[in-house]
Order: sequence, then C-alpha cells, then structure tokens
Amino acid sequence: MKSRPDPTVVTKPTTDADLRHPKVKAFAKRCLGPAIQFLNPRQLKKAVGEDTLLFATQRAEREENERRRKNGESTILLDEPLRQAALKTLPVLAQPEVTDALAEDLVHTLVQSAVQRLWAKVWPFSMNKRGERACWPATKATLMILAMGRSTSHVVDAYRALHHTPHLQQHFADLDWTAAERAEAEGIVCPDWRPFVVCDEKTVLRQLNRLGAACRRPALEAGIEMIKELQKLYPDAHIGKHLSIDGTAVPAWCSQLPSYGDPELEAELRGKCPEAGYLAIGRKGRAWEKLVDGPSLPRAGLDGPSSKSWRGYYLVTILDQATGLPLISGLFNAKQNEADHILVLLDELYELWPEIEPEYLVADAGWDNDWACQMLEVEYGIKPVFPKHNPAKTKWIGRARKGVAGFDADGRLVCAHGTWLDYLTAARPSRGELEPGEPGEGRYGEFRVRGSGCEACGTPGIQMQHDWSSLTTMPHHPYGRPDLYAMRVMLSARHRNLMEGYHNRLKSGYHLGLPGADRTRITDRATHEALFLLANVSMISLALADQLQRRGRSPQALKPAPARVLLGGRTPAPAPAPASASASQPSSGPKVDPFAKLFGPRRGVDRSDRAS
Ligand SMILES: [Zn+2]
Repeated sequence: MKSRPDPTVVTKPTTDADLRHPKVKAFAKRCLGPAIQFLNPRQLKKAVGEDTLLFATQRAEREENERRRKNGESTILLDEPLRQAALKTLPVLAQPEVTDALAEDLVHTLVQSAVQRLWAKVWPFSMNKRGERACWPATKATLMILAMGRSTSHVVDAYRALHHTPHLQQHFADLDWTAAERAEAEGIVCPDWRPFVVCDEKTVLRQLNRLGAACRRPALEAGIEMIKELQKLYPDAHIGKHLSIDGTAVPAWCSQLPSYGDPELEAELRGKCPEAGYLAIGRKGRAWEKLVDGPSLPRAGLDGPSSKSWRGYYLVTILDQATGLPLISGLFNAKQNEADHILVLLDELYELWPEIEPEYLVADAGWDNDWACQMLEVEYGIKPVFPKHNPAKTKWIGRARKGVAGFDADGRLVCAHGTWLDYLTAARPSRGELEPGEPGEGRYGEFRVRGSGCEACGTPGIQMQHDWSSLTTMPHHPYGRPDLYAMRVMLSARHRNLMEGYHNRLKSGYHLGLPGADRTRITDRATHEALFLLANVSMISLALADQLQRRGRSPQALKPAPARVLLGGRTPAPAPAPASASASQPSSGPKVDPFAKLFGPRRGVDRSDRAS
C-alpha cells in the first residue's frame, strides 16, 4: 500500500488545448450557453477532471460574458461561485495505491478491529449438524480472498491461493484467533473456537453459497464503523453530508440471452440464478432507453455499438463524496428499476448510522423522478441533485393577475406580466423531531420556491408540488443564486468522477462485476452481493489504514494463533465445551483467555499440560 497525495483544487491556468477538448467545450456551452442547462451526462460520459472543467468554464465564461456585453445582454458571474463550490466539494482523502502482493494488502484490512468484529459475526444461520465450526473459517477465508484479494474472479483460484500459501493461512488463523478473543470480550455470539483448518475444496465450495446471507449486515456495520473512524480524523470534513447514488451492471453466472416474455424459457435461462433478470439499454435517437425483456423486445441487434445488454443484477451503491468510499450497496434484479432502490438503501443506511445527516443526494438523470425528489425533500430533508430527465416545455399554471404564472424546464419562474424571475429562496419547513422517512402531517404544500425580479409581483412563490424535479432547492439555472447552481454543477462533476472511479476499482482492481467468461461463478445472489460488500470493506479499511499510517498510528497486530494450521487435514476434536462459554456477557473482571476456558492452558504458552 502506498499513499497518494491529497486531492487539491489545481490552480494551473487552462491551456488552449484544454479548452479545445470537445467535452470541455460542450460542458462550457451547457453551463453558459443561451439555453442554460445542467451539464449533459452523455457528453461527459468519460469523466474529465473537475479542475479542467472548472478552469475551462471560467475562461469560457469570460468569453461568453464579453459577447453578451457587446450585445447588451446581462452577464453571469459563475467564476467565483464555481471556485467556492470546488473547495466545498473537494474530497478530503485519496485512495492509497495498492501493491500486488495479496497477503501484504490483506493484512492492512485484517488488523482493523471492525474487520475482526465482522469475522466474528459472520456465521451461517444453520451450522452443521453438531453445531460446530468445522470448515466455516476456511470458507470465510476463501470468500474474503475472492472479494478482497484483487487477484481472481474464480472461486477455485481463491481456494487454491489459500490452500497453497502457508503465510496466508497463518494470517487467517491469527485473524480467527484474535476475532474469537474479541467476540468473547465483547459478548458477540461466536461458535466455540477450534484451530483453523483448511478443509477440502468440495466442502468449501459447497458451503460458500450458504455464507452470503449472513455476510450483509456485519459487512455493512464494519464499513460504517471505519468511515466513522475516518470522520474522527477529519472532524471538519463533509463526511456523510454529500452522498452519491448510482448503479452498475453485474452479469450473473447464467445464460445472457433474453426470453422475449416466455416464462418457461425465462426459468430455463435463469438457471440456478432465480433473481437474474434481463435488461438491455439502447439508444433511441439521442436518449438512452431501457428495454425490459418481453414480447416487444426487438429481436434484431440493438441500435448502435454503445448499447449493452445483460442478464443478472444491478449493483446500486450510495457513496460518500468526501472520502469517495461506499457507504452501502445492494445487488438487485436487473429487471427492477434501479431508481426504486433509493428508499431501501437509505432506510438501511439510517438504521446502520442513525446520526448521519446527509445534505445532498447526487445522481445522474436516470434517477430524476418526481417521486424521488419529493421523498428526499419531504421525508428525509435531503436536497436532491439530479439533472433534468426529460426537458419539458414551459408549464403554465394559472391566469392570476399577479404572482407566478408558470415555469420553464429548468424551473425558472415567470410571473403574470411575462417577466422571467430570479431564484430567491426555497422554503423548506424544519424537520423538528421527525424521524428520517417520516413525511410529517400536511408538510407537502409548505415546500415552496420563491422568485424575485418583477416590481409589481414582489417575491411570489410556488409550491414545489407542481413539479418536484424542476422546482427544487438546488436550482437548475444560475439566475438569482449562481452559488447554488455552481454547487449543483460541482456536486455532479464530483459524482461522475467518484462513481466512475469506484466502479473501475471494483472491476479492474477487485475483478468483480466483469462480463463474459470473467463473470463471478457464484449462483447465489446473496453470496454474490457479499463479495461486493467485502470489497467495499477492503477499500474502506485500506483508506483508513493509510490515513492512520500517515499519522504514525498503527493498529494492533493480530495475535498469533496458538495452534499451527493443519494443511488439508483435520485436528482431533477437543472435548465439547459448554455452549454458553462463547456467548457470555462482556466481563467486568480480568479478561479470560477463551482458549484456556475451552481447552485448558494454551499450547506454547504453558507446557505443563503436556506432561499429564
Ligand atoms: Zn410580475
């Protein structure tokens, strides 16, 4: 693991070459052109550095304003607001560079106490018949190597890496021992400890699909716990305030063909992955269109080379923009609408981290639904930052003599006299004692947007209910409040780069979510999901280890396991221990050695037992 320099706002002037870049040009035009619109996701598909955008925009703005002055039009000042927004949204840390040595990077993860807790908590709901640990630790180790190892997408390879690498076995044996001690001290229910054994391949592969469901909650808890530690290191940063949400395609280990709505064929194609739906995304003119499997799905090839299709899942992730780290992820049937999962993930996030107070939720245009904007504002008090999904025409709402008469696609208000108004404020009633997810009574109508600029009308307002996605707290246009608009632009630019970075890390770094023959060969959805969650834990733990290392703080090393790992064999079963031994409450007295409690004094520590 190698540290990378902290992110900064670059102050180098933009070169002409930067400005000539078509994406930068498109961005500047979008920001400042006559039809001012939010930066276009299609033109910025490949992320351009935020700084390049920022400075290119500043130059383009100067040129644009000069032109406007010549024509006698009013000018826009976005230069300073954009610079301020860039500072406010700047991530506080950079992900460390990882080395190729599997065990070396893994140890940075395993020494974190949150990860030890995670290890102690992950056990399948039904153990083997005698309620023994048996081979589960080896199965857990295989799952961790597969998810965090960054070396392979094949289960068998992960198992063999464990089987053939003695020091890797030793790391997991030490982790198992340290975690068992921790579980004992903290009252975590953890089955009786046995020396770590690498079982045979067949057993591990059979058990793997049963471990997934037990993994979700502990993995999420471990991740949040480490993010909170990062928050302690950066108390003034906006950790947990600026959130991003996005999804990525994850093909399942089954046929990748559509069934055109034939239920029998569908069941056959899904094979052992019952939740693997088919989805195609194609271009219809200039817009992307989702094509769900059914009789109407075009049988000929989809339009253009940029279309894609897969059978499997959507990985939906909420990411923290300050750290660039994932807070929560879920793997959902690709056939379901990805945007519908906002609610599920948000609720789970609040449950895991009740003190979190997100201010913004940023996403791309695919998430821009009226219901989503309304839900975020009213039920959670979060400001939605989504680009406009469908550029509707100006809406007219009434024929009063005074006040707001309508608004355009960007939510810019127009008064009864035909004057275009500047954005003034958004009234958002305080949440008071309301819990996250509670809408409160009669609050919908209190959310209003106010405009100013017409003397006869004063400062008229309009309820957001008319169009939650256009009439939003963070305006889609710079008139009136260029600072809020600049914040929206920068939040979205950061979102694009951070999300792309995260998905790339999963795919090229962790070999997860890859298409074709590199697909993860796991049929159980929950276990497949567990891989992503463990990869998240790995990313967070490496970032935390890097930050602690820079401050000269190193976490406690793993305690060496008392018994040697037995390669491929089995240790003789020790005498059965009372079931309550491992589930005891955290003791206030002196710490009890769980090994001694179960099996007598430790081998290697006290040799007196050998004599008897
Ligand atoms: Zn007016």
